[in-house]
Amino acid sequence: MRIDIATLFPEMCETVLSESIVGRARRAKLIDIRCHQIRDYAFDKHRRVDDSPYGGGKGMVMMCEPIYLCYRDICEKSGSRPHVIYMSPKGKVFDQETAKRLSDMEHIFILCGHYEGVDERVLEEIVDEEISAGDYVLTGGEIPALMVADSVARLCPGVLAADECFEDESHYNGLLEYPQYTRPDEWHGRKVPEVLLSGNHKLIEEYRRNMSLEITRQRRPDMLGATGAGS
Ligand code: SAM
Repeated sequence: MRIDIATLFPEMCETVLSESIVGRARRAKLIDIRCHQIRDYAFDKHRRVDDSPYGGGKGMVMMCEPIYLCYRDICEKSGSRPHVIYMSPKGKVFDQETAKRLSDMEHIFILCGHYEGVDERVLEEIVDEEISAGDYVLTGGEIPALMVADSVARLCPGVLAADECFEDESHYNGLLEYPQYTRPDEWHGRKVPEVLLSGNHKLIEEYRRNMSLEITRQRRPDMLGATGAGS
């Protein structure tokens, strides 16, 4: 899978995406993630990418043309038309189902806004969907784009090692995950639940399933209602 991220702060994205599991997957060529500087597509001598809003108001708005040229360049060089996402507080709030859907795509292009946002016309021209990190406003789309890239990348085949499976994890099957423990078996007087030391896989599976249901019921009853999971 290929993910292109168009941003005014590519170093910010590169730094995060070069580390840990995603960095390892990129180096192993299991996933192709590229970060692009939108300013490289600015056409005037000052490499301007933003201007003041028509109609007045505070702040600056990102201009259409550098974003469009960046998008066109990626389409031409890759030979494909990516699925285009604009990170925006006006979008649909991101969730695991969306991560799964995006991970099945061949090629996505993520546009990060900054300042007051992006000229609406380029969004109308190229964007397939707007995705939000949540109901709050950040200074830019970079952190939301990293969130999307990370959660999509870890669902791609081979990215997680066999012992880092995502199928038991929170949200995968409409439940929150059971609690996890590691050595030592007693810490500050708190013991690891006996069943986890029993070696009885059937009992452990049953315990984990029950804990998953209980935690979901306590913390996110809306999830049980929405999916019917656990019924
Ligand atoms: N004026 C815009 C509004 O009120 O909807 C907010 C602009 S925000 C300061 C600048 C950029 O950050 C946006 O263009 C968007 O790309 C990104 N951004 C901010 N909050 C976000 C969120 N919750 N989810 C996704 N992207 C966000």
